[in-house]
Amino acid sequence: MNRWFCMDCRNKVQIDRHGRCGTCDSEAVILAEHQNDVNGSVSEVRMDAPTPQACA
Ligand SMILES: [Zn+2]
Repeated sequence: MNRWFCMDCRNKVQIDRHGRCGTCDSEAVILAEHQNDVNGSVSEVRMDAPTPQACA
């Protein structure tokens, strides 16, 4: 199972079938690749999609 990180929750979350945060329904979720936790370092974070606004 993929792990996702919500920029709003600032925590690892699960996404629903629409690709949104399952906790707060935010679209600001990114795929958190499996790696060692590094305290205070989030340099690997990258945003792929520019948050489509079409389907509101
Ligand atoms: Zn969230």
